[in-house]
Amino acid sequence: MVANRRRQQRGRRPAQKRERRPVEWDPKTKLGRMVKGGKITSMSDALRTGLPLREPEIVDILLPETDDEVIDVNMVQRMTDSGRRVKFLITVVVGNNDGYVGLGQAKGKEVGSSIRKAIENAKLNMIEIKRGCGSWECGCRKAHTVPFTIKGKSGSVEIMFKPAPQGIGLATGEVAKKILRLAGVKDCWAFTSGKTKTTVNYAKAVFNALKENTQMRVMNSEINKIGIISGSLGITAETEQPTPPGTEQPTPPQEAK
Ligand SMILES: [Zn+2]
Repeated sequence: MVANRRRQQRGRRPAQKRERRPVEWDPKTKLGRMVKGGKITSMSDALRTGLPLREPEIVDILLPETDDEVIDVNMVQRMTDSGRRVKFLITVVVGNNDGYVGLGQAKGKEVGSSIRKAIENAKLNMIEIKRGCGSWECGCRKAHTVPFTIKGKSGSVEIMFKPAPQGIGLATGEVAKKILRLAGVKDCWAFTSGKTKTTVNYAKAVFNALKENTQMRVMNSEINKIGIISGSLGITAETEQPTPPGTEQPTPPQEAK
């Protein structure tokens, strides 16, 4: 917890480069084989296949620069015949700070191994979000906020995100901030109701709102008007954003054929 707070005070830090998994990964699923075989080279394409994402290595290969943050550590105690048993329920968010984010949980006897498992689960829940300039006060057409008002719910917690103009930052609670930052949303208003102190439900409500955003259908006219982009802009969080092209899906730089 202390380390976390210290990290926040330092402000945004560059995405930690995690070591890639050894290449001797032996994919067990169709999607895994397609990724390892080089048939699928972007996260966007992987998600569009509609095939189940069951191996975290897929994310490690397609999004090598993810960052993660522990959202909640919950100690669960249980009395058994042999005494007290303690387990930890860990909730983690993983994202590339640029259009992709996942939320995951895991339970176990040790915090460290449970965090690792939760990170793997978060990778399996990775979604591609849409960003744009949905703020009429701003109208810059850059992908810095949410394109529309979006809503999410979990347990008693309901959350609504509204597009905010550039420079507002994340006008949300701490948990939502962590998730939106890792998703690559820079400006946003939030309105919440319910027991927002139940961190896990709050986090799930935020994630459900972003999920709703991914499934939303948008018309071409809207894509142009508010500069909607789905997935990565392909730039780091700190640099200036170029005006997004009028396409929904930015094409990654490709080698000339
Ligand atoms: Zn704007």
